[in-house]
Amino acid sequence: MTRGDYERRMVRAGRAAADAGLAGLIVTPGPDLVWLCGYRPTAVTERLTALVIEPGRKPRLLVPVLERPDAERAAGAGALAIAGWSDGTDPCAELGKWLVPQGRYGVSDGMWALHLLGLQRSVPGGGYAALTEVLPMLRAVKDAYEVERLAAAGAAADAAYQDVLGVRFAGRRECDVAGDLARLLIEHGHSQVDFTVVGSGPNGADPHHEAGERVIQDGDMVVLDFGGLKDGYGSDTSRTVHVGEPGAEERTVHEVVREAQQAAFEAVRPGIACQDVDRVARRVITSAGYGEYFIHRTGHGIGVTTHEPPYLVEGEHLPLVPGMCFSIEPGIYLPGRFGVRIEDIVVCTESGGRRLNVTGRELAVVA
Ligand code: ZN
Ligand code: ZN
Ligand code: ZN
Repeated sequence: MTRGDYERRMVRAGRAAADAGLAGLIVTPGPDLVWLCGYRPTAVTERLTALVIEPGRKPRLLVPVLERPDAERAAGAGALAIAGWSDGTDPCAELGKWLVPQGRYGVSDGMWALHLLGLQRSVPGGGYAALTEVLPMLRAVKDAYEVERLAAAGAAADAAYQDVLGVRFAGRRECDVAGDLARLLIEHGHSQVDFTVVGSGPNGADPHHEAGERVIQDGDMVVLDFGGLKDGYGSDTSRTVHVGEPGAEERTVHEVVREAQQAAFEAVRPGIACQDVDRVARRVITSAGYGEYFIHRTGHGIGVTTHEPPYLVEGEHLPLVPGMCFSIEPGIYLPGRFGVRIEDIVVCTESGGRRLNVTGRELAVVA
């Protein structure tokens, strides 16, 4: 990424803000700030840091004066004017002076209430809206560079999965296998591990179960779902494995999920509505009689975070556009018994979907 690349993103964001009827954007530390200008403060504290983007104006970054050298190194002067505020002054009042009076601004979802309330006090009459509500698609369409980064993160997660198939499952706790997964993700180049789900036996039927003290048994189905960040971009993949030879129903349920995942993948093409990809996966599972056990949406976008728009969910009419990257992760969860989920990251291209996770989707047998 060059200064020019960030500059183009900020210009695009300014135009998108204008198109959405906003006076501009106020972006605080988090994924939007990194994506827009490359700046990730080492510590996010009560001291306000905010990037203001307004259409047709040079973007401005307000930082605590003690962090100004860091910000200048990371975000650079050129594309951006950087101003520092000092302890003992009110940064919200400072920021308020930059804003268009009575203007409506899109603000980062994660902006601290402390700062937004301060801003509302300093600039009465201004309106604010959450960025994912007013500009949900700001980061959704990835350029070639971003797709390449996501593919590299996916390949690293795939390598971690291949390796974990060789570790011992039976007789070890879920959290031990989760530790293996975290170590493998780091070994394969991740800088950050965000989640390592190991849901064995009945725990696999709870999609939010992470990993606990349960000792994995011979005969267990085990849902693995793991990911994090590699070179600033996310990975997120799920496979379900079986300890020893699976039984007939386990095979059947796994095969239904595999078919649903494949059908949804094949439905990916420019122009199809997000909800229709969800419906394709759901139809396969429902016609096999397991519809009530597929209890979550089919997928979510991924980029500089592991969960972001677009969401493949009923009610999302937004059409897929080449460059959008998202998960396809149908599952079946049989309470008290076991769960199955299969998840790949997929990018929408002109000619259809391309998987960024390519490990086998058959039911793998582990020891
Ligand atoms: Zn079993
Ligand atoms: Zn996942
Ligand atoms: Zn996911």
